[in-house]
Amino acid sequence: MSLSELYQQLILDHNRSPRNRGALEAPTHSAVGHNPLCGDQLQLQLQLMDGRVAEVAFEGSGCAISTASASLMTDAVKGLDKDELDELFAKFHALATGDESPDDLGKLGAFGGIRDYPTRVKCATLAWHTLRAALHGEQGATSE
Ligand code: ZN
Repeated sequence: MSLSELYQQLILDHNRSPRNRGALEAPTHSAVGHNPLCGDQLQLQLQLMDGRVAEVAFEGSGCAISTASASLMTDAVKGLDKDELDELFAKFHALATGDESPDDLGKLGAFGGIRDYPTRVKCATLAWHTLRAALHGEQGATSE
């Protein structure tokens, strides 16, 4: 199996069985994301403890890419603090838009091929933009 086939399997698997899907009992940060180009909708909830992501969950409806991206993102961000999240956001964004090699991003590297499909880039980055909005309160959606 080639690397790109492996990556495709990973995306299909996370679309079929999304990780961290649902709602949190006590979120400290949340945001809603929307990708009008494709119709993807996402609600993301985070619970930060001692400045690090303790719990994360998402709900929504979207295409396979946006669902798989949200699933893989929620797996990747657990335990990280805000600086590390900003750094990972920047790396993923660079990967999806074409500047970063997928080598040091682990499973997130599965989206390295998305840059060849410009109309789908926003599907892959929606969860990450929503994460950023939740952390930085850009939608004022913070609650205790
Ligand atoms: Zn989409």
